[in-house]
Amino acid sequence: MMNWVYSFTDAAAANLGKEQLGGKGHSLALMTQGGLPVPPGFTITTDACHVFHDNQRALSEQMIAEIETAVAELEAKMEKRFGDTVSPLLVSVRSGAPISMPGMMDTILNLGLNEDTVEALARQTGNSRFAYDSYRRFIQMFGDVVQGIPHYKFEQNIENVKADAGVQEDQKLDAGHWQMVVQRHLALVERETGKPFPQDPKEQLLSAIEAVFDSWNNQRAIVYRKVNKIPDELGTAVNVQSMVFGNLGDDSATGVAFTRNPSTGENGLYGEYLVNAQGEDVVAGIRTPKSIQELAREMPEAYNEFVGVCNHLEGFYKDVQDIEFTIEQGKLFLLQTRNAKRTAAAAIKIAVDMVNDGVIDRETALTRVDIEHLSALLHPRLDPDAQVTVLGSGLPASPGAVSGQIVFNADDAEALAKLGKKILLVRTETTPEDIHGILAAQGILTSRGGMTSHAAVVARGMGKPCVCGCDSLYINPSDKTCTLGNHVFNEGDTLSIDGSTGRVILGEVQHIEPKISDEFTQLLEWAEEVKRLEVRANADNPADAARAAGFGAVGIGLCRTEHMFMAPERVPVVQSMILSRDTSARKEALNKLLPMQQEDFYGILKAMDGYPVTIRLLDPPLHEFLPNLETLIARQTELKVRLEYNPDNADLRQHLTETNEMLATVRSLNEVNPMLGHRGCRLGMTFPEVYEMQVRAIYQAAADLVKDGYHPVPEVMIPLAGHVAELRRMRKLVEDTAREVQAERGSSVPVVVGTMIEVPRAALTADEMAQEAEFFSFGTNDLTQTTFGYSRDDAEGKFLQTYLNDKVLQDNPFEVLDRDGVGRLIKIATSEGRKAKPQLKVGICGEHGGEQHSIAFCHEQNLTYVSCSPFRVPLARLAAAQAAIRA
Ligand code: PEP
Ligand code: MG
Repeated sequence: MMNWVYSFTDAAAANLGKEQLGGKGHSLALMTQGGLPVPPGFTITTDACHVFHDNQRALSEQMIAEIETAVAELEAKMEKRFGDTVSPLLVSVRSGAPISMPGMMDTILNLGLNEDTVEALARQTGNSRFAYDSYRRFIQMFGDVVQGIPHYKFEQNIENVKADAGVQEDQKLDAGHWQMVVQRHLALVERETGKPFPQDPKEQLLSAIEAVFDSWNNQRAIVYRKVNKIPDELGTAVNVQSMVFGNLGDDSATGVAFTRNPSTGENGLYGEYLVNAQGEDVVAGIRTPKSIQELAREMPEAYNEFVGVCNHLEGFYKDVQDIEFTIEQGKLFLLQTRNAKRTAAAAIKIAVDMVNDGVIDRETALTRVDIEHLSALLHPRLDPDAQVTVLGSGLPASPGAVSGQIVFNADDAEALAKLGKKILLVRTETTPEDIHGILAAQGILTSRGGMTSHAAVVARGMGKPCVCGCDSLYINPSDKTCTLGNHVFNEGDTLSIDGSTGRVILGEVQHIEPKISDEFTQLLEWAEEVKRLEVRANADNPADAARAAGFGAVGIGLCRTEHMFMAPERVPVVQSMILSRDTSARKEALNKLLPMQQEDFYGILKAMDGYPVTIRLLDPPLHEFLPNLETLIARQTELKVRLEYNPDNADLRQHLTETNEMLATVRSLNEVNPMLGHRGCRLGMTFPEVYEMQVRAIYQAAADLVKDGYHPVPEVMIPLAGHVAELRRMRKLVEDTAREVQAERGSSVPVVVGTMIEVPRAALTADEMAQEAEFFSFGTNDLTQTTFGYSRDDAEGKFLQTYLNDKVLQDNPFEVLDRDGVGRLIKIATSEGRKAKPQLKVGICGEHGGEQHSIAFCHEQNLTYVSCSPFRVPLARLAAAQAAIRA
């Protein structure tokens, strides 16, 4: 009875899942069970990984005993033995977590080789060059992963042997040369560790397993988990598998293929392979590989078998597969299959195609797309009509376009990104060590490697534009320059890449608006069939409102009127309104603002004709519209000094008087804590004429629209109310003013008044608030601030990152709605509000309205709508559908 270790055959029979076997172990078990050509092996479970880490990073005796039993079974099955001098067993040792973390943890190949078995391998294959090359690779990987000897020291040995032999390329080295490399590697290990390289395969195996468990906590794995929100507790499984060799000659090969194009979604085998190569050579992008279609000519039998296997696997998993294979002397072996990482565009096309082919149903298709990933499709692309200077081209590895300053290493990329620069990371090829640079960069450009190279895979996963294998690019990392065509570029120069075409372009390029594909439109139509939440947009100008309508928004959930006050030509009028000494002066200034506001409202209501437009009355503290205190004090001082030298200058004196007045006003408006100060409806309570002007502008615009044949549906929203008495008074103000306008204009657009719920008191007295409101809209930006007692800017600037790093909080509550606290207030307010007024409309218009987990919460609470920025509207529609399906 085994607890920790399962052969691929037993693992499938025991019905273990990914959580225990890891993704790779699980797929190996299923493929073995399905009779596919998988080299035999066994999996050590993630449970063992947990115990290993709890047990001061040591394998338990029972684990070791089970590993020994599994090795004995494998020896019997393969008719090969560890350390055998005739037919030695060689294995690979690979990590495999429940959630794929490509390249983040470690792998060791050719384990089992030593002084004796290398000779046996040479005899057995009749190829001593191959045997010594395999042995030196094993020493390198083991030395690096298990013994912590820096990789470059091994590379140096190879360079030295090449120099002695007078050759440039590895391919030119013969058996004797590789034997020499082996001797140098062995000496290096002994120098570095003080001990000879371990010769006992069982000892090698146990150390390798420990090292792979350890690699769960290496730096790049930790960073990758953090970025992808993969729980640290999952742990990795270890897969030990008998080796097959893709480097046994020209009838051997190794490759990676996708059952559909992971970049475009096009249906058809897509991949690359290298003849006479081993292991990670394809993924590492060391040599530029051949297209899989070439294999049909080079090895037709293996190719045909492979095509059959691919169809079988895609059918079995009902999803696109990413398959690693090896051909050993003409015979096909599968090393791994997994659901393929794909671009957002490909994810949509594949999901829709699979529905149309009857492979999956619509609901499955809707849940197949990753909401966050899709945002890349909704953002601007390079303008195809822009005049551009194309400097070179590579493979279109990950779509989207970006212009940025070029940087040649990951550390510099990270440092410059912190200074707010847009970075294009330019590398010969990337490795998992570059992960922080890739994260910091807007896009990636490499001179080597194919569509399945590290840079390509990681960039697609992150939705960042990437061009790979641009072979006219020469990089000189030491002096931080590169050449492309006849141009030389220095770090900091600007280039653009187009990850959809592979073009590399001089300088910055114009971007254009995105277009939604037919498949995306189809998916959104299916989303409408299942989703319950309405999706509105936050927009405060006609262009944004029109864009939102184009993206399928069924209304505006938040129109922030202060944005209209901030237009440069309006600021002086707003300032004179604020500086007014009395109500009549203020009304005079407001009268100047009125036609401007009216024009804005006309445009927005027209763009959303027939749909509700929720217009929020002025919200921020008034001092936001005035110059800041420091600037004014500096100006005052300067004017005083100048006046001392020119006491008769009347202009200066007048200017000083004005500055003094402005300063006095700014001082009087200055608040200790503006976030909790004189803002929101507190402005309307103290300066009702401001709100009256806004309401007048709204209903005059509506009256004009009706006259022009439109169907405006304005809703007036009161911000930051915390007490029903505030709401009662503001509502009366709105209704009275609207009625005045209706009487003047003879119009009858219904008057709808609601409130934002942004402070806990409003939520807790929702039954009372509902008496005075037609709708509630949760302003979860402020509600999060007021519930936590955090000011967002201070929190994000000072302590929130520490909280997140230390896991005091799982997510930034300003990004992902805090279900337990803020969410509880939402729940109370919704149910109490609806109890008091069953027809109450309830929505959310804080930034959370566009975030998928928060949208799921809104669905669960049966809200009427979510409202988010126009670009996120399609994503919110899909997220609402996913929430409905998952609920
Ligand atoms: C909110 O507080 O959630 C909100 C939408 O208002 P604002 O972000 O404008 O304060
Ligand atoms: Mg707010």
